[in-house]
Amino acid sequence: MSIFTKLLPFIIISVLELNTEVKFVKGVGPRVAEWLAQKNISTVEDLLYYLPFRYEDRLNPRGIGELRAGEMATVIAEVRNSAVFRTRNGMPIFELVAGQGRSTLKCIWFHGEYLRDRFKPGQLVALYGKVEEGWKGRGLQITQPQFELLDGGGEGELDLETAKDIESLEVGRIVPIYESAANTKLTSRWFRRIIHGALENLAAEIPDGIPPAISGRLKLLDRRPAFAQVHFPPEGESFADLQNHATPANKRLIFEELFFLEVGLELKRRKMRERPGISFALTENVRQALKKTLPFKPTAAQKRVLGEIAHDMQHPSPMRRLLQGDVGSGKTIVALQAATIAIENGYQVALMAPTEILATQHYFSARRILEDVAGYRILLLTGSLDEDMKRSARRHIARGDVHLVIGTHALIQEKVEFHKLGLVIVDEQHRFGVMQRFKLMKKGDAEPDTLVMTATPIPRTLALTLYGDLDTSVIDEMPPGRTPITTRKISDQRADEVWDFVRKQARLGRQAYVVYPVIEGAPAEQQEMEFAAEPAGARSKTGLKAALHMYEELRKKVFPDLRVGLLHGRMSAEEKEQTMHRFKAGEIDVLVSTTVIEVGVDVPNATVMVVEHAERFGLSQLHQLRGRIGRGAAKSYCVLMTGGKVSPEAERRLNEMVRTQDGFEIAELDLELRGPGEFFGTKQAGMPGLRIANILRDRNLLELAKVEAARLVSESDPEITLADRQRVMQHLRQHWQRRYGLVEVG
Ligand code: ADP
Ligand code: MG
Repeated sequence: MSIFTKLLPFIIISVLELNTEVKFVKGVGPRVAEWLAQKNISTVEDLLYYLPFRYEDRLNPRGIGELRAGEMATVIAEVRNSAVFRTRNGMPIFELVAGQGRSTLKCIWFHGEYLRDRFKPGQLVALYGKVEEGWKGRGLQITQPQFELLDGGGEGELDLETAKDIESLEVGRIVPIYESAANTKLTSRWFRRIIHGALENLAAEIPDGIPPAISGRLKLLDRRPAFAQVHFPPEGESFADLQNHATPANKRLIFEELFFLEVGLELKRRKMRERPGISFALTENVRQALKKTLPFKPTAAQKRVLGEIAHDMQHPSPMRRLLQGDVGSGKTIVALQAATIAIENGYQVALMAPTEILATQHYFSARRILEDVAGYRILLLTGSLDEDMKRSARRHIARGDVHLVIGTHALIQEKVEFHKLGLVIVDEQHRFGVMQRFKLMKKGDAEPDTLVMTATPIPRTLALTLYGDLDTSVIDEMPPGRTPITTRKISDQRADEVWDFVRKQARLGRQAYVVYPVIEGAPAEQQEMEFAAEPAGARSKTGLKAALHMYEELRKKVFPDLRVGLLHGRMSAEEKEQTMHRFKAGEIDVLVSTTVIEVGVDVPNATVMVVEHAERFGLSQLHQLRGRIGRGAAKSYCVLMTGGKVSPEAERRLNEMVRTQDGFEIAELDLELRGPGEFFGTKQAGMPGLRIANILRDRNLLELAKVEAARLVSESDPEITLADRQRVMQHLRQHWQRRYGLVEVG
């Protein structure tokens, strides 16, 4: 091997491309590359997307003398001394004293023994944290500050040489702070240096998938400077913009991520459209049937939405429509009308609901509305049917004897073959993984139409992303004759007054729900599956009043004169169904329940919803619960009872519930309080894994991205060339799966 070929790799790697393996970055090497792989960093591009999670303003670090208790501050000071102390009960506390001239600042770390040998007197250290009043007026201190030694030391073998020019990365500027990795061997400072080096050696030209016409129109920063500036903000960058992810560099990278996401979704949606679907006819016969099966005069919103659905159903491509409408807005009848169109055209319809109670309720309304009037054969298929009945049900479905099949997940999980499936309706979509809906679509020959309904109003920003491949219809109007619900927050120390009120309503012939967070011991959700025997007390071990005990209490002591019923997730499907049936028939005055009644249950005569331990429930949950009342003409009341300690956040939730009844507003707030991941639950499949963008914070960019993506895909923008589009496609092919974790684009 000549000396030249030996040197070749070094010559080549001196310039880094985005897809260069990260081990070729100066200072990385194979072993560190393995650690980085655990963080999903394997290329230079991945490394550049490892963004700082915050920045420190070390341009203007604070003088110790000017610190005020209560503020967050960065202080750069010299280590004076450090020691480990023990509190009276033996807890080790590490104390560091750092100084600037005559001023000193104390920092303490609880259980901080591990820091014992980290600091050497004379070292320069950056400290970041909340400034507090020290004990007994002994000056200011910072508890558990984030820290960084600024002149070597403490970081061992991974340290790069402490050259003078690198020092400027640490002080006298706005400094990026990274999450450390590989059990903190790769410190924030390490990342800062490695990324700085990578940026210095990055090729002058890097691929940029965004068409120049779009970049120009939106005045986007180029990709290369965006990478550089997001890590090392240029002089004069606004610190506030950095904190808010609103610098030109942030905007560029966020837009890029959202743009490709939206292009991918737009392509999926087009592909779906191209599949052969069913073209339902709206003949005079069908119109007659629709009229016959309409039990009341629809609201303008219901009419409009049904028009949109009917239009989709007539079209030969498969319908993919999301129907959004607040609880009680009347989605069911719209769904049944859509079913009527399909059935009149000779097709079968599947209606899926998230719970057996809800499926059963739909079954009874469907029979009431469709069976007698139109003569359709309707079948309920749930997991709790015995094997024989399931088999026979499947046989009838396969033969086509059944027009409308209503059921829970069992419908899709068990191998149901339809004779001629034309329409799939999914109720309360947010309870399903997004992808699950595709399973049922595969059945049948032509692609059936799909109508997805949701009562948890999904904020528009989220709907755009999650359901970017669906068209959306919104019922934004309540059926007539509803009076607004009065909501009150009250401590359970005043429970007697609440029970008196419930009794008065019952005497007027109305009905009430009383909801508890738990059946017995642990929270109800965990309990739905297990049968933990807990001692029954007024309050369970967790300090919560529980449904089982309170049922006895209310039945025997509080309402001996009323008919009290009980409903919870541990009852058999049959028991649940019977209880709901009796409540609906007015044979129960007060229904004690867990959150099993949260979704969709419809008993218009119920006018009171009492939620005990309301501080335990999330906003969406409370909104769903409140949605069980206010469904008839009589005035309804929601009582949010609190028991025990109420955190400030819970207080805020409850106050919002009292203030507004607008489901969209509540959902936006819920999303804001909990963040997108929590909002949809961890199990939610199909939620794209965004690296930089936050669909809540960046909703404006999301809308822009959607508009631009649609224009690109529809080829309606004359400024975007074929070569531009090819570059977008190439970028998508390379990045789609890995970046967004979504299935193939096609
Ligand atoms: P949701 O959208 O929460 O599923 P439902 O479909 O259960 O709401 O409807 C709530 C209640 O309003 C039901 O009792 C239903 O019969 C009634 N309803 C729906 N639409 C109308 C209407 N146009 N006029 C009168 N009552 C209606
Ligand atoms: Mg409903």
